[in-house]
Amino acid sequence: LEKVPSDFEISRAQKPKHIRDMAHEIGITDSELELYGPHKAKVQLHLLDRLSHRKNGKYVLVTGITPTPLGEGKSTTTVGLVQALGAHLGKIAFANVRQPSMGPTFGIKGGAAGGGYSQVIPMDEFNMHLTGDIHAISAATNLLAAAIDTRMFHENSQKDGPLYKRLVPSKRGVRQFSPVMLRRLKKLGIDKTDPNELTPAEASKFARLDIDPDTITWRRVVDCNDRHLRTITIGQGAAEKGHSRVTGFDITVASECMAVLALSNSLSDMRERLGRMVVASSKSGDPITCDDIGCGGALTALMKDAIKPNLMQTLEGTPVFVHAGPFANISIGANSVLADKMALKLAGTEPGEDEAEKSGYVVTEAGFDFTMGGERFFNIKCRSSGLVPDVVVIVATVRALKLHGGGPDVTPGVALPEVYRKEDVELLRKGCANLAKHISNAKQYGLPVVVAINQFETDTAAEIAVIREEALKAGADDAILSNHWAEGGKGAVKLAEGVIKAANKVENKEFKLLYDVDKTVEEKLNIIAQEMYGAAGVELSELARQKIETYTRQGFGKLPICVAKTQYSLSHDPALKGVPTGFTVPIRDVRASVGAGYLYALAAEIMTIPGLPTHSGFMDVEVSEDGEIEGLF
Ligand code: ADP
Repeated sequence: LEKVPSDFEISRAQKPKHIRDMAHEIGITDSELELYGPHKAKVQLHLLDRLSHRKNGKYVLVTGITPTPLGEGKSTTTVGLVQALGAHLGKIAFANVRQPSMGPTFGIKGGAAGGGYSQVIPMDEFNMHLTGDIHAISAATNLLAAAIDTRMFHENSQKDGPLYKRLVPSKRGVRQFSPVMLRRLKKLGIDKTDPNELTPAEASKFARLDIDPDTITWRRVVDCNDRHLRTITIGQGAAEKGHSRVTGFDITVASECMAVLALSNSLSDMRERLGRMVVASSKSGDPITCDDIGCGGALTALMKDAIKPNLMQTLEGTPVFVHAGPFANISIGANSVLADKMALKLAGTEPGEDEAEKSGYVVTEAGFDFTMGGERFFNIKCRSSGLVPDVVVIVATVRALKLHGGGPDVTPGVALPEVYRKEDVELLRKGCANLAKHISNAKQYGLPVVVAINQFETDTAAEIAVIREEALKAGADDAILSNHWAEGGKGAVKLAEGVIKAANKVENKEFKLLYDVDKTVEEKLNIIAQEMYGAAGVELSELARQKIETYTRQGFGKLPICVAKTQYSLSHDPALKGVPTGFTVPIRDVRASVGAGYLYALAAEIMTIPGLPTHSGFMDVEVSEDGEIEGLF
């Protein structure tokens, strides 16, 4: 292999085409396009109506084996694969990826545009503000946080009558309910539309939410790894005396508004989901929603442009949708349903067209390994969108499989131990058990599975042969070496051909989800832990049991579940490599993202706002005199 330049040098050396030209090539009209400079555009949702008659293109999910902390190349493979499909095999092929958070970009992980000759460009625009979606989500989340605390402040300082009058003031002599207030009246079963007609009891019921401050789950957010905001005390100003409260910040991408953006099927669906988000309980134990606070409409207003997918391109000029990026630690870690739906129509076929010949491809990625990311992708994202994938790609690397075979730990920023740099077929073969478990897990969903062996400079032919052999033995439909990092799309042509073949397979293909949402929360947790992780079962803490009881009583027991656990093991314990069995997964807590539409169960202490390392990414960034950003990686 020749020396591959840095990601940034590669990104900068390629001049992107005008995004309008890219849009025209794939059949987006000018009236559907909103340009944000020459390299980015938003695409309006009415495109979905225009193309509703089309049959969807092929839907490809890229996931991985249990990774090392270095990452095994899912994003890089996603981009390399579409470059091969689009620029080398003549298909319309979209990479649908998440918008990265600026926290990791300036922290330890760096950007997320792929790597080597498989990248989304321009990588600086991709990794920073993009078109402002994350800023919009921060604004929405923080507006609701401010609304909650302020509402408690006003309720505490006013009697029922004045509170109601101030909440529904007269404007030019007329007292009127706003649309969001009418929603609350409906929920309360008060069948009146004239504010003057409410009885004092009804007015009190309407105005007083009686939030129990100890139950508030809504936190403020910022898109920066600012660890000192993890726990804070608010309300310490003289004017807020007596209203202080301990709360904290999460990183913006960990917010429920981000998860709502990812899972919404339309603008009106997003409006409903934002309104349904539960932020606390009342002192009598009823859930308090964003719409109860009166915020659902305003949050939708703040996010109404964020809902439109963002179009960019790869190094080889093929289309990319960059949209939404819920934090994989506690959420689905996948891009948006709407970007997928849009790309599937653009890559779709007209009635009567030969699908195998004409169909395009939409390649999307799920954060973490198959067993977590893929499980959530199917059971939460696909359940919500109704979309059915055609093929699963599992990215494997020699280095991660050696780690699972018993190799020493690897640490970012530290040179790899020697076993990872020279041939060791024995160690590798042992570690292939981890790949086999992910393959058999993926097979449970009834889809073809293709293993992508992401080639590194140090891999040997004998090692590649072992992975291929073990993957086929475990039931993979194919296992293909791919060298897209060093060669771009050309290096992934064989992988792309394998994906096309698998996606067009008709036999033994029947997509099925893992569990029925009507089962109890504990049953669903046990199914995920046993069938996917290889556990004996779950063990609920007292807190988790209480929360499940509360959510079930409040009517949220029938939601799918996102289990938050380490990505570094199939189990909940990052030290257990390979394929651990017989362990019990401790569930410490269960929380609800009612608007997004899932419960999440914490199997570990999960950090919702990372910290910055001593040498942070931001220390390498500079801007040249001509305005070029340098040092992002
Ligand atoms: P993931 O999406 O699985 O976290 P990425 O695609 O972001 O992984 O890759 C992680 C890092 O490894 C990136 O910096 C990428 O450039 C690098 N990388 C990926 N594949 C290769 C490869 N085959 N050779 C060298 N570096 C690679």
